[in-house]
Amino acid sequence: MILISACLAGIDCKYSGGNNLREPLKKLYEEGRAVIACPEQLGGLPTPRASSEIQNGRVVNTVGIDVTGQFEEGARKSLQIFRENGCTMAVLKACSPSCGCGMIYDGTFSHTRIPGDGIFTQLLKKEGIPCMSDEEYLAKYGNSSDD
Ligand code: SF4
Repeated sequence: MILISACLAGIDCKYSGGNNLREPLKKLYEEGRAVIACPEQLGGLPTPRASSEIQNGRVVNTVGIDVTGQFEEGARKSLQIFRENGCTMAVLKACSPSCGCGMIYDGTFSHTRIPGDGIFTQLLKKEGIPCMSDEEYLAKYGNSSDD
């Protein structure tokens, strides 16, 4: 069992109100081989919501509100879902301030990527849990979810 970012399975939980559908990952979810979590919704944030980026270790949205507490709460709840379902790895939406894995945006809201992890991914890695981004997953497995 793996945990995937809910927006990758087609759930409309993205800050804009849409999703980041990746068909192979949706298929895993529909087959019962994956569970989903959206840390930002689980932290109590609404959808749609202002977009956020990490600035000096804090999460701040485009209207200047510090939402670090909600992001950390959502990360804890998502980790609980991971554990309750016996997951062994996570596939996470690239560059998200929650789910980004290896690369995130630099905090200037200019779509500039820098090395780093989102708040949820930081927690997963601290727990020693293997993580990969959706971009890495698709590069490795393409459109096949049968293997
Ligand atoms: Fe997707 Fe994660 Fe953002 Fe939720 S917090 S919309 S699951 S990238």
